Amino acid sequence: MDKKIGLFWLRDDFRFAKNNGLIEATSNHDQVVVFYLYKNDSYKDQEAQKWWLSKSLFNFRKKLNDLNISLEIVETNSFKIFFDKLIKKKDFSIYWNKVYEPDYLKFDEYLLRNFKNKNIHHKRLKGNVLNDVEEIKKSDGTPFKVFTPFWRTAEKYYVEKIPTKEKKIKKCKKKIKYFNNCIEPDKILPKKNWFKNFEKIWFPDEQRALKELQVFIKERITNYSEARNFPNIVGTSKLSPFIKFGQLHVETIWNECIKKKSRTIGTSKFLAEIGWREFNHSLINFFPHMLKDNYSKKFDKFPWEKNSEFLNAWKKGLTGYPIVDAGMRELYSTGWMHNRVRMIVGSFLVKHLLIDWKDGEKYFKNCLLDYSPANNVAGWQWVAGCGADAAPYFRIFNPILQGEKFDKEGEYVKNWVPELKNLSKKFIHKPWEFNDEKFRLGRDYPYPIVKHEEARAKALNAFKKI
Ligand SMILES: Cc1cc2nc3c(=O)[nH]c(=O)nc-3n(C[C@H](O)[C@H](O)[C@H](O)COP(=O)(O)OP(=O)(O)OC[C@H]3O[C@@H](n4cnc5c(N)ncnc54)[C@H](O)[C@@H]3O)c2cc1C
Repeated sequence: MDKKIGLFWLRDDFRFAKNNGLIEATSNHDQVVVFYLYKNDSYKDQEAQKWWLSKSLFNFRKKLNDLNISLEIVETNSFKIFFDKLIKKKDFSIYWNKVYEPDYLKFDEYLLRNFKNKNIHHKRLKGNVLNDVEEIKKSDGTPFKVFTPFWRTAEKYYVEKIPTKEKKIKKCKKKIKYFNNCIEPDKILPKKNWFKNFEKIWFPDEQRALKELQVFIKERITNYSEARNFPNIVGTSKLSPFIKFGQLHVETIWNECIKKKSRTIGTSKFLAEIGWREFNHSLINFFPHMLKDNYSKKFDKFPWEKNSEFLNAWKKGLTGYPIVDAGMRELYSTGWMHNRVRMIVGSFLVKHLLIDWKDGEKYFKNCLLDYSPANNVAGWQWVAGCGADAAPYFRIFNPILQGEKFDKEGEYVKNWVPELKNLSKKFIHKPWEFNDEKFRLGRDYPYPIVKHEEARAKALNAFKKI
């Protein structure tokens, strides 16, 4: 055993299973301290995730306590300043898992160099992916830009890897304190308490994540390929925030899914969605410009329109298109939105309203509990048509037909837009065709802010300009 203190830098790794860095720290040291660096400005535009983060810290700290490991939350303005100070102490060894985002990986290089120069024992381990980003490239060494060949290669590579022996976290001898002036998880909570509703829906904890995974595999995975399209039912796993914060490792998901004797289409489709997550992480690391700009440069000349009135109507779920409004209200209320509806509301913003996808991305970032730079940026650019392997710009979702196809009875809409609850199936996705004493458009529900056919023609015209 190493006599020094083992430090584990906790990022998106709120779990015991397959937490490589924490497992290594407890194998090598009798005394381990887990620390979380809270940088206020990195959560500036991620209000919803402040809630998930705060609860995750609270719940994880309790679990770590039982193993005589303390979790200390340190507030800092800069990772660099923090580590430059820490490095002078020299009474520790340090471990952390990779986060597959360019800024994190770049900072890792700085740390690895400095720890090495100062002779401080350190180890950076694999994070929450199936394959490391560098492992999956085309045979000519260049990165994939299309999903299907990427996933074919990535899946095969993962399956053929020799599995490493699964280690467990060990209980430490004695709990110690290491950092001064630590903060409590509550300090991270958002100022506005709209998150109170989240507390009725989500429980940010590893045990809960594992349970939800089991329920999904037992009850829903077989029909996943079909059911995942319908927002009025729970057809998907709803595991995304747990995956984002690392309560679940994607290898655990993989292993549990393939335990099922026969691999159904549902299982393959579900694992392919995990594959999309891997693909998106590969994209943002090989093409980091796409985190801030269009992946496809030709979209730099796209004539987006600035229209704060439209943008606000979209955010508030007051566009006059029921399926769009339902989605935006689900997002605000629950911190999550169904994938089909994410595509519909995204398409509506960029194509019907001609508003830059970056404005939508920013709003999602603030409201989504599962926000991840890779998935959000790639999701938005897929919708807008400027991403890698994206939906072509000229394919414009018709929000009425999408509603009629995927929310046939209007149940999803009625749940989130209660002012439409008395409308029949015939009118639920086009309330402007309905009028009676009890329901007046403009009074009880907004007129559509744009007309579908006109907006479609305008979008196609704008596309011609690039
Ligand atoms: C405009 C837009 C923005 C999005 N922003 C995010 C985001 O910030 N964070 C995020 O995790 N997902 C994002 N997605 C992808 C997808 O909508 C969510 O991952 C999914 O809805 C989460 O629900 P689930 O866990 O029930 O998914 P399931 O269908 O059960 O899928 C299982 C897991 O696979 C991954 N996954 C599923 N679909 C996708 C996809 N299309 N792309 C990448 N990974 C996927 C997620 O980790 C998900 O939890 C976005 C999609 C769009 C169209």
